[in-house]
Amino acid sequence: MTLPDTRRFYIDGAWVDASDRTTQDVINPATGAVVTRVALATAADVDLAVAAAKRALRTCAATTMAERKAMLLRLRDAYQARIDDIAAAITQELGAPKDLARNGQAAAVLGKIDAFIAAADHVQLNERLDTGQRILRQPVGVAALIAPWNWPLHQIILKVGAALAAGCPMVLKPSEMTPMSASIFAEVMAAADLPRGMFNIIHGDGAGAGAPLCAHPDVAMISFTGSTAAGEAIARAAAPGFKRVALELGGKSACLVFSDADLEAAMTAILKKAFNNSGQNCNAPTRILVERAAYEQAIAAARKVAETWSLGWPDQPGPHIGPVANARQYAHVRAMIESGIKCGARIVAGGLDVPQGFEKGCFVAPTILADVTNDMPVAVQEIFGPVVVMIPFEDEDDALSIANDSDYGLAAYVYTAARDRAERMIAGLDAGMVLVNGADIAPGSPFGGVKRSGIGREGGVFGIEEFMELKLVAEPQPC
Ligand code: NAD
Repeated sequence: MTLPDTRRFYIDGAWVDASDRTTQDVINPATGAVVTRVALATAADVDLAVAAAKRALRTCAATTMAERKAMLLRLRDAYQARIDDIAAAITQELGAPKDLARNGQAAAVLGKIDAFIAAADHVQLNERLDTGQRILRQPVGVAALIAPWNWPLHQIILKVGAALAAGCPMVLKPSEMTPMSASIFAEVMAAADLPRGMFNIIHGDGAGAGAPLCAHPDVAMISFTGSTAAGEAIARAAAPGFKRVALELGGKSACLVFSDADLEAAMTAILKKAFNNSGQNCNAPTRILVERAAYEQAIAAARKVAETWSLGWPDQPGPHIGPVANARQYAHVRAMIESGIKCGARIVAGGLDVPQGFEKGCFVAPTILADVTNDMPVAVQEIFGPVVVMIPFEDEDDALSIANDSDYGLAAYVYTAARDRAERMIAGLDAGMVLVNGADIAPGSPFGGVKRSGIGREGGVFGIEEFMELKLVAEPQPC
């Protein structure tokens, strides 16, 4: 793979040098090697990118939905042509194992583009109400898109695809940890032949590039995915101008397992969601609550499933787990496991010992901690690594009160054979999404959470409408 140029930005339809020569190393978390360097944008680069987007506003807003769909189709073709390069970049910058990078991380983007193409037909740009008056749905304006590193392009397409379908010009700031896949994505966008200035990308960190982008007076909307702490800072930055915000933040999703569930099937599905991508999934079922009568049996089933998961090198094919994404994340995940052990949790699998041969990179063994109570830091704080906790509950009320005793409310999971009980849990759980008995979220579904997991939804029609403003039109009715 030829390394993409992560020192230049794509602004106003051209590749431009960063205004400042400061760069940051991009490090392969499996080896510790510096893969490349990324330029760090300053407020001056932000100004150029926002100005280009602002100039494109009228042209973008005037595009028809058919034209926007045609852009999404061109984007799809251009993306498909670069999908192997993108997967290779994700393996190097994130440490995602080869098969996960290609068939999970990179491939998921195509499903999301398809879902936006399908959703475009359901967005009513000019809707007549029962009163005879009309509602226009118009692009909200210049959109600032800020993305995290964990599913770097998947999180980016949820924003770029929606902004494009809504007719918004945009400035994307990907994570400074994963700029290579983002720069290839920018090449893909350049090949998709959009109106000049509709798509702009700058690289940089939160303080130097993200903050001035969010504070820019010509930005009308901020779509952010990342940590709850940064989300809070962004909501504050948006307040003075009453900018629209869509915030997809952290999670500590509860998973209720009742004794009538098929425990082995449940644990297989739960741990796949929790360990996949080294556990760096915002909606991972990381708090496994099990009905007391089945608790020890569930722990035994979880141990058996955990034995089927192993660590492995990212450049090798196979279903193994790679390292966590960076040294900061590695230190945080290990500190959380240590804190669980100190609080008296029982190690069912994994722990602080790393299998031989993996001591040098950011590898964390898939870890299960049992006998956890909901007041321990491991039960309440987001770990964002391959670590789950298991907590017993007595009955439905107890299950709901433990599950909802959380700052977060992204996803929740229920495993039970009883349909009426599942319905009661669905109604009672504080979460943006409830997944029952292993069912998954279809592309185009509204993805997002409540409480400190954020505001707004991404994906499909709901995601597109986040980028649109309603305009009521009242006019004399024809006789
Ligand atoms: P992060 O908050 O550190 O960074 C995310 C992005 O925000 C980066 O591009 C960063 O440069 C930028 N940023 C940081 N501070 C900023 C500021 N003050 N102003 C503007 N931009 C700023 O998060 P991360 O470590 O990259 O990602 C992990 C987090 O993302 C986890 O908490 C995870 O749960 C969350 N996440 C949530 C979802 C979801 O859909 N809810 C999806 C994926 C990840």
